[in-house]
Amino acid sequence: MTRAIACPACGEAEDIRGERDGDVIMLTCDACAHRWERDPRPTCPQCGGRDLVEAPKAVVQKVRGDQMSVVGYTKVQLCRVCDAPLIEQLARSNAALPPDAMPVVSRHSWGTATGRTPEDRRG
Ligand SMILES: [Zn+2]
Ligand SMILES: [Zn+2]
Repeated sequence: MTRAIACPACGEAEDIRGERDGDVIMLTCDACAHRWERDPRPTCPQCGGRDLVEAPKAVVQKVRGDQMSVVGYTKVQLCRVCDAPLIEQLARSNAALPPDAMPVVSRHSWGTATGRTPEDRRG
């Protein structure tokens, strides 16, 4: 669990409840009953910045033994600050992220497809 939501009033990080309220998410701390709004837009977990770019990323699945096959694409959020080299590389190649280039934001939506970085084994 790397969700970095903590109560701004008491610092509690586990007893937090979230309710969607229109475009915002209302968070309630069960420890001190503090309520606050959370902007649902993604933020960079490393720098907290909002300057994120959406990038396509290949989703691979194991087919027959060690054979990996691209089964589709998913979207990941890259931080313009922390992932600047990656973004630059994408802009140059105009292609999707390879499945082994782990972006800084690891959302569980694409978690089951790869699991581990596939090493290209030869021999
Ligand atoms: Zn609290
Ligand atoms: Zn960042």
